[in-house]
Amino acid sequence: MSAAGLTLALSKGRIFEETLPLLRAAGIEVLEDPETSRKLILPTNRDGVQVVLVRASDVPTYVQYGGADLGVAGRDVLHEQALAEGGSHGLYQPLDLKIARCRMSVATRADFDYAAAVKQGSRIRVATKYTEIARQHFADKGVHVDLIKLYGSMELAPLTGLADAIVDLVSTGGTLRANKLVEVEQIMDISSRLVVNQAALKLKRDLLRPLIDAFASAIA
Ligand code: ATP
Ligand code: MG
Repeated sequence: MSAAGLTLALSKGRIFEETLPLLRAAGIEVLEDPETSRKLILPTNRDGVQVVLVRASDVPTYVQYGGADLGVAGRDVLHEQALAEGGSHGLYQPLDLKIARCRMSVATRADFDYAAAVKQGSRIRVATKYTEIARQHFADKGVHVDLIKLYGSMELAPLTGLADAIVDLVSTGGTLRANKLVEVEQIMDISSRLVVNQAALKLKRDLLRPLIDAFASAIA
């Protein structure tokens, strides 16, 4: 935990872009654009308040161990890691920010009869980055699966014959359509949450409370 001031962990892209209006509502302007700057620590208009850019899946780690006082992480990342670790990281999660909204779904090639495979009790090969969420989902349904862990470009797996199905995030469905895949089941709704380091919450209450309150009133 930084001794003074506040460090906020964000991932580049959607989460960064959609957190900006919330920060603005709290009077915080980020002074550099991560798309053009190569800096990983971005200053803001507020003395001592800085943004650190980390991988989406590293946000909970930074906040848990105090590399950042707070951060914004997707429910996908938080849920996957909580299942993997058998706990909830001891992170305080005061707010659903309702940003970076999408859903986690099962998708297959249009010519794969998912309903029939499930009904017949066939083993289904599923490729995903979210192996823990997928494992739990299919176990709850009593569906037998072989899980294949991937780190990206999940859509490719059914197209190449690597897997029958994928578990991935879907928002408009455009990526699935472009790759001729169909969404056959929705697993859960996803949005991003504010996560706060437990020690910081106590020791930096005077800085954090107004920020959390401003975010709360700015949520769409
Ligand atoms: P990394 O680059 O670290 O491997 P990533 O590529 O999964 O991570 P992004 O695709 O930028 O990172 O996603 C970051 C977060 O944004 C996800 O954890 C999820 O919560 C959210 N997200 C991902 N895809 C979508 C989407 N299609 N619509 C809305 N939100 C999304
Ligand atoms: Mg990415």
